[in-house]
Amino acid sequence: MKILLLGSGGREHALALKLKASTTPVDLVSAPGSDALAELGTCVALDLEAPAAVAAWCATARPDLVVAGPEVPLVAGVADAVRALGIPVFGHDAATARLEGSKAVAKAFMERHRIPCAASQTVKDLAAGEALIRAWPHGYPIVLKADGLAAGKGVVLAESGEEALATFRAFMAGQFGEASKTVVFEEPLIGMELSLHVLVDVDADHAAFAMLPACQDHKRIFEGDRGPNTGGMGAFGPIPFLRPEDIQRMRVELVEPTVRGLQADGLPARGVLFLGVMWTAAGPKLLEYNVRFGDPETQVLMQLLDEDLAALLLEVAEGRLVSRELKLKPHTAITVVLAAEDYPEGAKKGVPIQIGTPSVTVIHAGTRKQDGQWLTNGGRVMNLATSAPDLAAARAAIEAALPQIHWLGMQVRHDIGLKALRHAQA
Ligand code: ATP
Repeated sequence: MKILLLGSGGREHALALKLKASTTPVDLVSAPGSDALAELGTCVALDLEAPAAVAAWCATARPDLVVAGPEVPLVAGVADAVRALGIPVFGHDAATARLEGSKAVAKAFMERHRIPCAASQTVKDLAAGEALIRAWPHGYPIVLKADGLAAGKGVVLAESGEEALATFRAFMAGQFGEASKTVVFEEPLIGMELSLHVLVDVDADHAAFAMLPACQDHKRIFEGDRGPNTGGMGAFGPIPFLRPEDIQRMRVELVEPTVRGLQADGLPARGVLFLGVMWTAAGPKLLEYNVRFGDPETQVLMQLLDEDLAALLLEVAEGRLVSRELKLKPHTAITVVLAAEDYPEGAKKGVPIQIGTPSVTVIHAGTRKQDGQWLTNGGRVMNLATSAPDLAAARAAIEAALPQIHWLGMQVRHDIGLKALRHAQA
């Protein structure tokens, strides 16, 4: 099966490794790809924000399947353009991708379909927002969200009215361009955050979904959940203390109304939805939709999935998914991110990486190869990932492998999954 994989990071390398491990033989082309992805196939320089360019390449090369890694090509309309050629795409149309591309659209969808979520108000006007902050009814922090994509930096939890006013004014002044000129204000939710991935295949006369195990990401740079936010420093799944009835609750309260809502709104869906969930004292509440796999959650999910990934993604892309339980290893998986010096403020690039022979999966995120030597080339440089019968064993396997990889200034958290482990053992 000839597959065009869009993207270049750790998520895409994890997907690529799993695709190549499929029973189905896979001829992999990555765009734009990376030196690590080039070792699993070929790479082609395509502008992922240019649907016409991606479609033109597809029209000639005729891949059997296109798999979108990041959200940017989906929001830009790449899936629509490629699907119009009759080529199956694992990735949503632009209209559906608005669920990630616009927080106001996502909130309106959640409210319309009565999906539990934080109370919110969407504001496009300076005076109205200032008045809302002055008479804020929900307690602190005030959650302010830039409407559009802001590379994970568009959400601010303001601890005071002054901070909220300053943040709001900066947003409205165009801190993230047009993306922040509409602002969603939200009630603060308190609880445990988790990532729920669901394969979805929805059109006017078909609606199917398949849930993947819930994972937990660790967003802060330092151990103990301290320091600035990052793209994610490590994840594990499934979450040991989520009971089958908790999963069922998320299915009934969040997933099923989402699938029904997509169909009712005439939003076709052929890909994955990643639900950001806050498990509060009142049960699960939906924080956000992402229209693509999470990074680093994908690195965990690919360790757990016991299916032929190429065949599974094609099933979704061709509208043949049947709602079912996916085959999973009866394991817990974990991934840790190895980050560059200075991350997340910056990223020291070009630092030589020493790689031994770790007995776990090595995933490349921000690396490049020069004269046979791997160098750092991004903030999140690599991941180690593995699975084991339980979380303690999975954590131990990662710790045993960590000395096999090193570079000057490498940052890693040794407490991924530790809180959950202690909670489960208590
Ligand atoms: P990301 O890039 O992490 O996906 P994002 O910019 O798309 O983030 P959200 O996921 O909506 O935005 O919010 C980012 C983070 O802010 C969440 O992961 C959560 O920790 C926190 N957050 C968002 N909404 C709320 C809320 N209503 N109450 C408490 N925390 C919240």
